[in-house]
Amino acid sequence: MSVDITCGKCGEKISTMQMLKSVKDVMKHYNNKCPSCGQVLSVTEFLLDVEKK
Ligand SMILES: [Zn+2]
Repeated sequence: MSVDITCGKCGEKISTMQMLKSVKDVMKHYNNKCPSCGQVLSVTEFLLDVEKK
């Protein structure tokens, strides 16, 4: 299973996790901002696409 974290504002794929970790830890790595558009993101503004394989 992999989880894509996508910016809810611009649609940029920010990160892909191989397992479901804390989304907040990933956001902290990016200073809670989208690296593409600079939009400050909250958890609810991330789109999580979970693909079961
Ligand atoms: Zn963005």
